[in-house]
Amino acid sequence: MTEIRVGPNFVPLRYRGVSVATVPPGVALDEAALRAHFLGREAYRRTRFVVARRDPDTPGPTALLAVDRASDTELFAPVTAVTMIAGPEECAYVVEPDADTGVPSVLAAVAGRRAPGARAVVVQGRYAHVNFIVDPRPLRIVVRDVVPPEPAKLADQARRVVDVMEDLPPVELVARPVRMAELAAAAPAAHYLLPCRGSGAEVPGARVSYLDEHPARSDWTLVGCARSRQIHRHFYGGDPPGVDFCPKVGLAGARPADAVLTKCCLQEDHIEYGDGWACVPWGSSLQQVGDAVRGLVEREAPAWRPA
Ligand SMILES: [Zn+2]
Repeated sequence: MTEIRVGPNFVPLRYRGVSVATVPPGVALDEAALRAHFLGREAYRRTRFVVARRDPDTPGPTALLAVDRASDTELFAPVTAVTMIAGPEECAYVVEPDADTGVPSVLAAVAGRRAPGARAVVVQGRYAHVNFIVDPRPLRIVVRDVVPPEPAKLADQARRVVDVMEDLPPVELVARPVRMAELAAAAPAAHYLLPCRGSGAEVPGARVSYLDEHPARSDWTLVGCARSRQIHRHFYGGDPPGVDFCPKVGLAGARPADAVLTKCCLQEDHIEYGDGWACVPWGSSLQQVGDAVRGLVEREAPAWRPA
């Protein structure tokens, strides 16, 4: 038998080689009985894993097996070895018609939501494809963003790209937006200058002006990033009191508890990486956000490979 090591986040690449079999009531769902049942049976050339179930129509008891075949080149070949990956007591079968089961992060999310605690979770998803994850331990990535505008743009973009990343280990995104009004509260003032009107940001109880409208100089407190201070200097020739809202601030010091994805207005084109974080430019494209997530994950989980 080809040796099979089943570690955390074990996911077959794009449900390749996963076949679903219905096992008659006389066959127990334990390793010995399933081995006796499947040994010698013909399996399709690509079959490497078998999801063994009692009933194809209801998510009942399920066992997960790895199989070897006599040949990889014949269209069908007899099964020559059977190894139990997860028995019915630790394996869940869930139906989630919208889930793209070719995406490890989607599998981990479905597993966490529908079958928390199960060691192995088989998911029947979109296009009726079936795939599974064993021991889901998604890499947590905190997305630090400034709101408004709502929804937090970077977190939303990251969610959209992670949802289609088929060759990335499972990732769990945690949006942790910083509210502009809360930042303002750190420096109480009657009049705030915020970067742009388009964001729709307001500070309850205070007067607000927007830097992008180049208002007449006033006695205000700037809530913005380093770039806003540069623009302020350019327009008005000086630095007002202010709060730096750059979500990247502080990352250069100690490594964050969870990996962090964030953005900075001082970066124009490039992605920056540090110990446990990645930072994209303020107005990043989906492509850039995807590159940053990939770069961060490759640094944080370099050993992961699909099975
Ligand atoms: Zn910044």
